[in-house]
Amino acid sequence: MGENRERDRAFLLDEIESELRSTCGMTGRESLSPQVAQALLKVPRHAFVPREVEWAAYRNMALPIGHRQTISQPFVVALMTDLLDPGPDDVVLEVGTGSGYQAAVLSCLVKQVYSLEIVGELAVLAQERLQRLGFVNVEVREGDGCLGWAEHAPYDSIIVTAAAARIPKALIEQLRPGGAIVAPLGEPQATQDLVVLRKDENGRIRERFVLPVVFVPLRDA
Ligand code: SAH
Repeated sequence: MGENRERDRAFLLDEIESELRSTCGMTGRESLSPQVAQALLKVPRHAFVPREVEWAAYRNMALPIGHRQTISQPFVVALMTDLLDPGPDDVVLEVGTGSGYQAAVLSCLVKQVYSLEIVGELAVLAQERLQRLGFVNVEVREGDGCLGWAEHAPYDSIIVTAAAARIPKALIEQLRPGGAIVAPLGEPQATQDLVVLRKDENGRIRERFVLPVVFVPLRDA
């Protein structure tokens, strides 16, 4: 079983790499950094989805996780992680813990991940799951991600995994100069734009469009 899953993850990684090659005209990324690829090979995605959809855990698709929420498509997780350019000393904030899968992938690449989830039950489940699987450098809290998590700011990067019309102001404030935010921007019932926002050393903000994506909406508390 374990071996099969390793093989499934390797196949999934091939698919992700091939989708990256075909979208690199837009994303500017032709392949994943070796570290991000390693993290995807390591994290057991099947342990982050409900039993009913476990069979599809290594398909390149978003899956339902209850509470009308989803675990993102692996290609999108891979691309967003790569766009963050995570470094081993980084402290990262995630908005939208969901299953905890994206947080687990990031935790393999950085020093500490803080993750906010507005649905209390999902927050509890994700924290338990991450602990059980040994992803100890992730802290999950129930809360409204639009307000950020000021206690641990400033963050080296911030990843938002739910869609809003604009990036919440608190998140931009909690990003360190030189850092980046990756987020889907746009209306909920449509395709959104995956965007990379950079804050330069003088605090100036630039946004770059990367790719059309589909996410569940970022909720108001
Ligand atoms: N990153 C997740 C996928 C997230 S789906 C994973 O790897 O599985 C988006 C999540 O954002 C959902 O769980 C949803 O409940 C949560 N969410 C929506 N609005 C939010 C908000 N304002 N603050 C925090 N979390 C929010």
